[in-house]
Amino acid sequence: MGITQWVLRDAPDGDTTAQNMPDQTMSARMVSVNPEDSAGEDASKKPTPVVEVLKQSVPKRTQVAAVQQSVSDVISLDALRVRVAECTACELAASRTQTVFGEGPDQADWLFIGEAPGQQEDRQGKPFVGRAGGLLTQMIRALDKTREQVFILNTLKCRPPGNRDPLPAELKACEPFLLKQIQLIQPKVIVALGKTSAQALLNSDQALGKLRGQVYQYGPDSIPLIVSYHPAYLLRQPTDKGKVWADLLLAHRQLPV
Ligand code: SF4
Repeated sequence: MGITQWVLRDAPDGDTTAQNMPDQTMSARMVSVNPEDSAGEDASKKPTPVVEVLKQSVPKRTQVAAVQQSVSDVISLDALRVRVAECTACELAASRTQTVFGEGPDQADWLFIGEAPGQQEDRQGKPFVGRAGGLLTQMIRALDKTREQVFILNTLKCRPPGNRDPLPAELKACEPFLLKQIQLIQPKVIVALGKTSAQALLNSDQALGKLRGQVYQYGPDSIPLIVSYHPAYLLRQPTDKGKVWADLLLAHRQLPV
């Protein structure tokens, strides 16, 4: 894959025997805007026509209301999974193979949030499969965790056709599901992977490079949230692995000791 294996070196248990850690400064910091900020998470993405974005930039009130109503009485992830699978609130329901709810334990310390299912995810019903998923697995292992110990999900639960960028209306319609997932999982730290996820969670239109390097407090429970690059981007820019590693260590430091 061309990605050097990452190994956590400054873990709280003091393990300093690991090798191949990127030689990047590990301190949290603001970074300048990077030229890759506008790069999409997936190289195969097709740009969405401007007219289409404008047309669909405002969700129909009924779409949001339908999803909000759907989650209002849900008190478990299993029940929420069923509601997501039944959802037809936005246009993506018509073209999906299946919904991709996300996976992980009911209560996970780490929550990784990507953008939207791609072709393989749509087929398999799982988040982050394929090469980008393999790289995310490496990132998680470097944190001394397994995929089974963390929760992984996407902002959108259905695949945008042709892997195009999610439309604002779709993100807004699906948002109650995302908020409910976070509320139920109660993670100790959230890692937003990629521009779409970061901007949606932070309600921001700033470039990814501006959003990285800071600790945000998310939601009423003030869950620490860190922004990093999407693994699909990292596959195209493996030289940026050090930045992602710094982001992961910044996230790691937010965990309660
Ligand atoms: Fe429903 Fe979200 Fe799928 Fe749209 S993307 S149909 S809101 S689950």
